[in-house]
Amino acid sequence: MINIKEDERLSKLNHSCAHLMAQAVKHLFPDAKFWVGPVIEEGFYYDIDLGDKVLTDEDIEAISKEMKKLAKDGKKIVRQEISKQEALEMFKNDPYKLDLINNMDEDNTVISCYSQGDFTDLCRGPHVDSVKELKNFKLLKFSGAYWKGDSNNKMLQRIYGICFDNEEDLNKHLQELEEAKERDHRKLGKDLGIFMISDLIGKGMPLYLPNGYVLWRGLQNYITDKEIKYGYKHVHTPDVGTKQLYETSGHWDHYKENMFPAMEVDGETYVLRPMNCPHHMVIFGNDIHSYRDLPLRIAEVANDFRYEAAGACKGLERVRAMTQNDSHIFCRPDQVEEEFKSVVNLIMEVYGDFNVDVSKFQFRLSLRDKNSKTNKYYDDDEMWDKAENALRKVLTDMNLDFFEAKDEAAFYGPKLDVLVKPAVGPAVTIPTVQLDFLLPKNFELSYIDENGEKKTPVVIHRAILGSIDRFMAFLLEETKGNLPLWIAPVQVKILPVNNEYHLDYANEVLNKLVDADIRVELDDREEKVGYRMREAVMQKVPFILVLGQKEVDDKLISYRRRGSQDTITVSYEEFIDLLKQEIKEHK
Ligand SMILES: [Zn+2]
Ligand SMILES: [Zn+2]
Repeated sequence: MINIKEDERLSKLNHSCAHLMAQAVKHLFPDAKFWVGPVIEEGFYYDIDLGDKVLTDEDIEAISKEMKKLAKDGKKIVRQEISKQEALEMFKNDPYKLDLINNMDEDNTVISCYSQGDFTDLCRGPHVDSVKELKNFKLLKFSGAYWKGDSNNKMLQRIYGICFDNEEDLNKHLQELEEAKERDHRKLGKDLGIFMISDLIGKGMPLYLPNGYVLWRGLQNYITDKEIKYGYKHVHTPDVGTKQLYETSGHWDHYKENMFPAMEVDGETYVLRPMNCPHHMVIFGNDIHSYRDLPLRIAEVANDFRYEAAGACKGLERVRAMTQNDSHIFCRPDQVEEEFKSVVNLIMEVYGDFNVDVSKFQFRLSLRDKNSKTNKYYDDDEMWDKAENALRKVLTDMNLDFFEAKDEAAFYGPKLDVLVKPAVGPAVTIPTVQLDFLLPKNFELSYIDENGEKKTPVVIHRAILGSIDRFMAFLLEETKGNLPLWIAPVQVKILPVNNEYHLDYANEVLNKLVDADIRVELDDREEKVGYRMREAVMQKVPFILVLGQKEVDDKLISYRRRGSQDTITVSYEEFIDLLKQEIKEHK
């Protein structure tokens, strides 16, 4: 979606439109006083003091109408330069503008004003030449906003809008906004009964509802089974660890600000874990390992807790409590390439199973900056060169289109970030593969090599789904809530046309489907079948069965597939075979 702030022409247009809106507000509310009206990524807004008045939809409509009238009238926008003294005189009745003027640089003696007809505003500019250019705008929303963002200050009224040069651009943008809203995972999550957030539980702490938990468990089972096939060993470890654990790992020094505050128990200090690496290091250290035992791939679907600013929490995308699909691969240096390759293959296979277009992936090889003078990177030139070359070689051998990013590596080693472009917004990193030479040293981990000598293993940290939470957000937006059949919380909905005649047969079909491990629901409410059909369609259920007299008489099933208007009638066996086949193929 377009970023208004990054476009010079659109910035000028939108800021001018903020003035036009202020002029219209002044006409309708003569006592209105104005704070600031900046351009933002999404268009513009203006903060306005309307006394005790709280804006309504009708007010916004009236303001919009007045703006249209003023734009049609087409007054010129004129710039005027005045001294600070003159400005103080001109805006002497406006405490907000006086605050702005008084806070201006002392050297900045010339102050500019822009006027259009009967309205003058203090402003640095630039502006378009005439309000005539501001015809294609839309007021988008309004809300209360504290003066200077401080909740001790007065609540002002903020109105948001956007303006384009022509009607086509405006309409296209409004349509994009509508689509983005429709596929926002927070909306879909609510509509489909996936998750909720409650302030009583805490910010950034999602609660998975029955449908959401079916999806959650489906993801967990899927990835666990897949990893077992790829030779991973799953473990389960506690959500807390001692402070010493994180001092040993180095997180206490480098990562503390992202962690929840420590808690004291019986004179010991514990923390909620932000990641699982230290726990897995301890598990590896529990045994003596021979070079023949490696690689050892320890995996877990584990709860982690991270401190995020309250304002940064967003649905399932940015959370304080999450579940990570995490693994640590302990291997010999000569196994790094093979293991790395295997992880990249696993990434491609998994995302393919979710019908994600992997050709849209961007592979970023994040390297250190060799010349970095800071202590940003673990100091071992030979190790870095070897590791970076190994990763580069694998990506080249696999024919992946990747780019290199200097100075983006982790402190302990280079990494591969897979950037996934979601339906809405900028690309996000979901899968990552990171080489680590440091953590095994910190935990004094070792294996016995073929000459009987103790050696330090290399660790590969990798995440495939990333956090289950963030992956769900991604999947909901990517599919617009049309979750693939194999993972859909409800796969089939059964609608008997008339309970009196068709309910027994509907129950018979329900039981057969339950026996076949299909997730199925029966809607036998006393509502018209058309009404129940519309609801099932809104719930984006992959298959809807409508069972009426014909189906009862012939012992058949009539189904409608999601996104299709066609009704297809088949035998029960054929229907089960169809479902089983499509589930197996991850459709
Ligand atoms: Zn201005
Ligand atoms: Zn890790």
